[in-house]
Amino acid sequence: MTFKASRAKAIDKLNNFVEKNLTEYSKLRNFDFGPDKRSNISCLSPYITHGVINELEVIDKSLKKFSFAKNEKFIQEVMWRVYWKGWLELRPNVWSDYLIELNKIKNEFKANQNYLDAIEGKTYIECFNQWVIELKENNYLHNHTRMWFASIWIFTLKLPWQLGAGFFMQHLYDGDAASNTLGWRWVAGVQTQGKHYLASEWNINKFTNNRFKNIKLNENAPPIFSDKTYSINKKDFLNPKILENKILLIFENNMTFEFSDFKEQKFKKILLVTNETNREIELSKKVIKFKANLLEDQKIRLKEKSINCETININDLKNITEEVYAFYPTVGENLNFIQNNQLKNIKFLYRKLDQFSWQYCNKGFFNFKNYIPKIIAKFN
Ligand SMILES: Cc1cc2nc3c(=O)[nH]c(=O)nc-3n(C[C@H](O)[C@H](O)[C@H](O)COP(=O)(O)OP(=O)(O)OC[C@H]3O[C@@H](n4cnc5c(N)ncnc54)[C@H](O)[C@@H]3O)c2cc1C
Repeated sequence: MTFKASRAKAIDKLNNFVEKNLTEYSKLRNFDFGPDKRSNISCLSPYITHGVINELEVIDKSLKKFSFAKNEKFIQEVMWRVYWKGWLELRPNVWSDYLIELNKIKNEFKANQNYLDAIEGKTYIECFNQWVIELKENNYLHNHTRMWFASIWIFTLKLPWQLGAGFFMQHLYDGDAASNTLGWRWVAGVQTQGKHYLASEWNINKFTNNRFKNIKLNENAPPIFSDKTYSINKKDFLNPKILENKILLIFENNMTFEFSDFKEQKFKKILLVTNETNREIELSKKVIKFKANLLEDQKIRLKEKSINCETININDLKNITEEVYAFYPTVGENLNFIQNNQLKNIKFLYRKLDQFSWQYCNKGFFNFKNYIPKIIAKFN
């Protein structure tokens, strides 16, 4: 399976999925039929993560095909991303604590043979080894497989979840601070304290169509214990009164100017910001290339519209002294850079979808789910 780094390809994928496979999504979505048989799911996450297509576009397309009731499961899945982002925005210390823990543990485990065997796919668990290869080669794993992988990593191989989350971020094309960190916390049992996800042999057999043999797992492990709690950080996600003729920054994880809420604004110039190395979690070369190609694709589209734009490295933001705007890059590596370097001249522009949805992210997803029809109605 390949992911071509362009908006045109993302739109093709979306159209194709909605036309041919959306109808069976809720019935088949949990099956991982193997890397070459992915038509039961959309495989859109590498694009949605980077903003190349956005959640509302995807939902809108699906609703043109089927009613909300028929599409509910798919829409809920798309909205999980919005929810996880909002959840983390309200508790940004979960991300900063995660990075502190990761750095400490990385050092402790750098010569740990269990860990080295796991990231090389040399464990005694065949399915796990294959998923490691798939992750490195295809830079994508099915959702159910991510759950099994994380569960085996934590409860059978007994490795720290923080290291596993770092390994995913390094290789996933859709690597995202919120969905990934909170996904791993959820499997470990620290997101919803005391509730963990335990992979089992029968479940893997059933949902992989018996593709793997001899899966010996620890199916009775207790959840990971953590007594850390996080209170909600009250913050207003308000846009500045937009003045024309400013520079706009677009980071690699929030792209696609022409389909954004700010497409009508006249900016002096758009700077597409690359960030290869200013990261706590080093990315694989393939992931860096994928991001660079997506930015290049954005640049070509802007040039076609005669919009003045150029690519700059994140380090060069330190040399800009005038007030500039940036599409808000959300809690994660790019925001860390801005905060660590105290770049106070950067004012954030928030998406309307996020401004509206994040107010419902203070509790669990089951609460958030109730607001999905309201959120969709507001934007459709
Ligand atoms: C341990 C773990 C780590 C994960 N790490 C990431 C990550 O770094 N980046 C990422 O984008 N997703 C992550 N996910 C969520 C999910 O696995 C992927 O979004 C999904 O597999 C993408 O495949 P798809 O596009 O075919 O999804 P589909 O099933 O077709 O769903 C459509 C869209 O809904 C969204 N979505 C679906 N499930 C989830 C979910 N559980 N959480 C958030 N959004 C969801 C995605 O944008 C996806 O493209 C993780 C899940 C787990 C359990």
